[in-house]
Amino acid sequence: MRFDVLTLFPAMFEGPLDESILKRAQTAGLIEVAIHQLRDWATDKHHTVDDTAFGGGPGMVMKPEPLFAAVEDIQPLAQPPAHVVLLTPQGRTLDAPLVRELATYDRLLLVCGRYEGVDERVREHIVDREVSIGDIVVTGGELPALLLLDAVSRQIPGVLGAADALAEESFDDNLLEYPQYTRPADFREWSVPDVLRSGNHAEVDRWRRRQRILRTSRRRPDLFAVADLTEEDRAWLKAQE
Ligand code: SAM
Repeated sequence: MRFDVLTLFPAMFEGPLDESILKRAQTAGLIEVAIHQLRDWATDKHHTVDDTAFGGGPGMVMKPEPLFAAVEDIQPLAQPPAHVVLLTPQGRTLDAPLVRELATYDRLLLVCGRYEGVDERVREHIVDREVSIGDIVVTGGELPALLLLDAVSRQIPGVLGAADALAEESFDDNLLEYPQYTRPADFREWSVPDVLRSGNHAEVDRWRRRQRILRTSRRRPDLFAVADLTEEDRAWLKAQE
């Protein structure tokens, strides 16, 4: 899968893309990431990419011309044409189903806003989809783009090693993950639950499933409302009340 990223701050991508799983995925050719400096498409001698807002008000708006020119030049750099994603607090909130859907594309072009955001004509005419990382406003689209890139990349077969497998992660089946423990079994006055040391895999599986259900019901009633539960799950949960 190929990611193109359009940004005013390419250096912000260096650390996260040069470490760990994302680095390995690039080296293995599982993902390809091309970072593009938007200012390269500005045409005046000051490389201007923003201007004041029509109608007045504080803050600057990203001009349409460099953004249109950049997207039009980046698209033919690879095949197929990229699905163009604008990072914006006004987009659909990134969640597990959206990440899985984005992972079905061969190529994404992530457009990072700055200042007060982009001229509305960009959103209307060259963007395929608007994505938000949540109901907060951050200073630019770079961190949201990295978050999306990371989440989508780990859906690609081979990106995660066996040790980091996707199986039974939070949000699968609309349930959060079960509690995790490692050595030492006894730490200060807190011990790992006996069942996890029993060697009885069926019991471990049952404990984990029940912990997922309990956690989700307590922490995320919104997810729990749509979780896929059996009659046995429901009966057990009722008995905990
Ligand atoms: N004035 C804009 C508004 O109220 O909708 C916010 C602009 S924000 C300061 C600058 C840029 O950061 C946005 O254009 C967007 O690219 C990015 N950004 C900020 N918050 C975001 C979020 N929750 N999700 C995705 N991108 C975000």
